[in-house]
Formats: sequence, structure tokens, C-alpha cells
Amino acid sequence: MSDSKQSSLLDQVRIVLVNTSDCRNIGSAARAMKTMGLSQLVLVDPIEMPNGQAQALAAGATDVLANAKVVSTLSEAIEDCGLVVGTSARSRTLPWPMLEPRSCGEKMVAEANEYPVALVFGRESSGLTNDELQLCHFHVQIAANPDYSSLNLAMAVQTLSYEVRTSYLLALNDASQEHSTGNGTYIGKIALSTKSENDELYPVTEETERFYQHFENALKATGFIGDKHPGLVVTKLRRLFNRARPDVKEIKMMRGILASIERASTNSADKK
Ligand code: SAH
Repeated sequence: MSDSKQSSLLDQVRIVLVNTSDCRNIGSAARAMKTMGLSQLVLVDPIEMPNGQAQALAAGATDVLANAKVVSTLSEAIEDCGLVVGTSARSRTLPWPMLEPRSCGEKMVAEANEYPVALVFGRESSGLTNDELQLCHFHVQIAANPDYSSLNLAMAVQTLSYEVRTSYLLALNDASQEHSTGNGTYIGKIALSTKSENDELYPVTEETERFYQHFENALKATGFIGDKHPGLVVTKLRRLFNRARPDVKEIKMMRGILASIERASTNSADKK
């Protein structure tokens, strides 16, 4: 693996902070990221924009802070990402596929070869909303004291960024030993390049969201769900497809199926 490929791998890992209220946490998060070799920071609708206090806490990582992208919604922050992992300090009512911090790091490094990947962090006061958590493929929880499980935001960024770096270093070490197999380069459970030319990629968030919207519209058209109250059905469908993690070809097929249902129902309505 070339030097540029090595550094570009960590540049594909995005840290997303949602609606942060204290910009000092943004500065500390920037520092935490840079110590682990990460540089891509995205701020979703920050309540307080980074100021001098944030810069002071960023210390030598003011470049990460200065390059931070500011967007207004989480969807915008992750639309081009093929893997999105949401963080949570506590268990939520809707069960979702969970990762341990270690396997989260491994997965991010393995998939960062293919597309940008994102780790999403919530508000200091209330974490991520259920809607935001549903935009994520997996959730990760840092196993903490069950009686006091909420880490400071920047410390959670530090812990999970460290796991990304640990996996990255293991993968690099392996690549330098040129342990090539037929399918790619491995160390432990980490594959740096496992895709063969015939493998399909996972869709990025923007494509998956278009599919969910199409599904919802089709189900409203058939009357399966009410126009005003899609309710839990849509959430459960999201969870089902999220668990199956369809690839690009499968999403295209599903959209083709939906389009055929829409055509059939328009035709039968025309005949009436
Ligand atoms: N009071 C909030 C916790 C907010 S802590 C709640 O009950 O959800 C701010 C953010 O730090 C969280 O949204 C999450 O992104 C991260 N964080 C804190 N503790 C964490 C933990 N144990 N595991 C994973 N992420 C954590």
C-alpha cells in the first residue's frame, strides 16, 4: 500500500458532532481526532460556533477545527457515506445492530477503502434522537459504569478514534508484511482490500434514503400505511433493511419492484 493510500484511508473516516452546545467540546474533539490521525470533522447545526475557547482546547489541532464543515442536518453530513455508526451512552427502546468499540474500529477501517465512513456523536444533554439513530447502520456503546455511563463528548470521540487508529495500525502492519491472500490483505479480522471486481458495493446514505422514501410512498399509495401516520411500520422496515444491508444491485432491484407495483396500481385505477 502506498503512503498516499495509507493516509487517505484515515481521511475517509468522518467524525460528526450533532447539535453540540458547548464549543469547548468541539475544540477538545478536534484535538482527540488529530492525536489519532483523523482530520475530517463535520458539525451539524452547532449551537455555539467554535470560538477562541474552542481553539484553546484544540491546542495544536486548530487546523482540524478550521477545516470543519458545518451543515444543517445529519442527513447532509452523511449523504455520501456507505457506513454510518451512531454512538449512544445508554440502551434505546428500539433495538438496533450493535458493535463493540473494537469491532467498530475494524469495520470502519475495512470499509473506508470503499467510501467515506462516519461516526456520529450526539448532544451533551440528550444524545442522538431516535430519528438520527435510525439513519445509522450500527450503534456503538462504550461499556462504562452502568450507574454513570455518559462520557464527556470529546472523551467519547477520543475512545472511538483510538479504536479506529488501533485497527488502522494493525491493518498497516499487515500490509507491510504483504500477507496477500486471493481476496485481499488481512490481519486478524481486518481486511484492507477484500472486494473483488464482481463484488457489489453497499449504497451510500443518499441512495438508501431515496429507497426508503420510495418504499414509504408506494405503501401510502397502496393504502398499507396511512398518509398522515406512517407510524412504526416505516421504522420497522428501516430496521429490517438495515439489518439485511442490501447492496447497490439489491437496492436497484427493490426500487424496480416498487416501480412495478406503482405501475400496476395506476393501471388498475385507470381501468375503474
Ligand atoms: N445524556 C446523554 C449523553 C450525552 S453524552 C444521553 O443520555 O444520551 C454526549 C455524547 O457522547 C453522546 O451522544 C455520545 O455520542 C457520546 N457518548 C457519551 N458516553 C458514551 C458511551 N458510553 N458510549 C458511546 N458514546 C458515548
